[in-house]
Amino acid sequence: MNTYVTHLESAIDGTHLPADRVQTVHEGRPLWVRYDLDAIRKNVNPTDFQNRPPTLWRYRELLPTSDNTEIISLGEGMTPLLKARRLGEKLGLRDFWIKDESQLPTGSFKSRGFAMAVTMANHFGLTRFATPTAGNAGGALAAYGARAGAEVYVFMPSDTPLVNQVECTLAGAKTFLVVDGLISDCGRIVRELSDEMGWFDFSTLKEPYRLEGKKTMGLELAEQFGWELPDVILYPTGGGTGLIGMWKAFAELRELGWLKSDKMPRMVSGQSDGCAPIVRAYEKGERFADEWDEAATCATGLRVPKAVGDFMILDAIRESGGCAIAACESDIAGAMREAISTEGISICPESAACVLAAQELIARGDIAPDDRVVLFNTGASQKYAGFGDQEQISIHLNKPVDPKTFRTTYSHN
Ligand SMILES: *Cc1c(COP(=O)(O)O)cnc(C)c1O
Repeated sequence: MNTYVTHLESAIDGTHLPADRVQTVHEGRPLWVRYDLDAIRKNVNPTDFQNRPPTLWRYRELLPTSDNTEIISLGEGMTPLLKARRLGEKLGLRDFWIKDESQLPTGSFKSRGFAMAVTMANHFGLTRFATPTAGNAGGALAAYGARAGAEVYVFMPSDTPLVNQVECTLAGAKTFLVVDGLISDCGRIVRELSDEMGWFDFSTLKEPYRLEGKKTMGLELAEQFGWELPDVILYPTGGGTGLIGMWKAFAELRELGWLKSDKMPRMVSGQSDGCAPIVRAYEKGERFADEWDEAATCATGLRVPKAVGDFMILDAIRESGGCAIAACESDIAGAMREAISTEGISICPESAACVLAAQELIARGDIAPDDRVVLFNTGASQKYAGFGDQEQISIHLNKPVDPKTFRTTYSHN
């Protein structure tokens, strides 16, 4: 099979660029990968996917690879879509679902993007990779880079959760902690040194293929619901690739005519009020978001003060009839504990912020009790253990006791 990719297209001004060579950004802004959807419609039936292995590569016609691309994979994709009856009841929702991305390689949905981006970089012969990260992107690039036999450099804020630091170094990435820096400072280091160091910059949306990997979340969701999309999608937003990628998937599926109805979900972007540039721009009616000063949140994936794809996020939210909403930072750790203890799903703080956002939208009447609502759990909660101060994500253990005391304390009788 040859690829169905026709070209790359600048998201800011529509300029076409050839897809048969390494591309990054155009005018500093991201690129879309475009496909010959008419040819795909002729040659592929969505039922074909069901007979293929349960990884994201089952959607290969809608991906940039071709038959002679070596796939760099850790078995990513087809994460469970779990009905969350108990948490739904607490929220007042009868049709509430969690798509559990915490079960992916490296414990977050970042593996989808990096499986695709590293596969394509490797295809183009690139072997020195670098990325700034708030945590999980570094872990994913380190793992997929190792899988491809590449050399990986990762730059992260010095207060990034320890597990993210450990996963990068264990996978052999040269890992640097940037003191008093945020992901934007890490990004500057990568940008300024890339030419000199011969690095390929994997920063969010600085190359076109991570987005195609993220797109598979939307394709899977559609397939899992029998090619019918839910009413509302709750998605935590940092750099925005998840939300933008999913919206792109839905647009492509609609154009292919594979959806049972043309009704698109309302995309809800969840942030923390400790770093909410997209929410602020949404509320002001703006298409571009100003940088957020002094970004601080225990949901490290949301600690992105300035997103290069801000207009793509805001366009998707508005086109969908959704909204952007910020959770109260001090409520996130509690909401996370509550959600995990209610469902047993390893819900990360980023997605806990979305649970709080849902609460608010339900109270306002913007989400109805019978709406089909899907929360994306973008990462695994255990990666954040010990992060932040005691008020945030700490471990609550009971003190060891002798059997006699135990009996009097915990006995039912
Ligand atoms: C990166 C990340 C996010 C934010 O995703 P974007 O696609 O960058 O908006 C949310 N949650 C987790 C766990 C992440 O690692």
